[in-house]
Amino acid sequence: MMVGNLQAKPCNECQAPIIWPRSARSGTATPLDAQPSPRGNVALYERGSGTQIAAVLTPRAAAGYRAAGQPTYLHHAVSCPFAARWNKGAARAEGRS
Ligand SMILES: [Zn+2]
Repeated sequence: MMVGNLQAKPCNECQAPIIWPRSARSGTATPLDAQPSPRGNVALYERGSGTQIAAVLTPRAAAGYRAAGQPTYLHHAVSCPFAARWNKGAARAEGRS
C-alpha cells in the first residue's frame, strides 16, 4: 500500500499498516495510520523533491480538509492498541524510515 510516495509498513506491535512522513514541526519521522481517518488531525503534503510532510491541523482545519475531499490521518500512537509499549523505543522508532 502506497500513500503518496510512501510505502506503508506494518507496525512492530500491532501490524497495522503505517507510514512515516516527516513532521512539519520537528522534521522527525512520524508514524501515521496509512488509512485516512474521519477522526484524523494530520494532513500530508509534499515538499521539494517529494518529501512527504505531516502537518498537525486544528479540528476546524481538519474538518475543512475532509469537506474538500482531502484525507486526514491519525497519529498511530492514537490508534495502536500497544502504544504503551512504545515508550522507551520511541526515540529509536523515530530513526526508522
Ligand atoms: Zn501499532
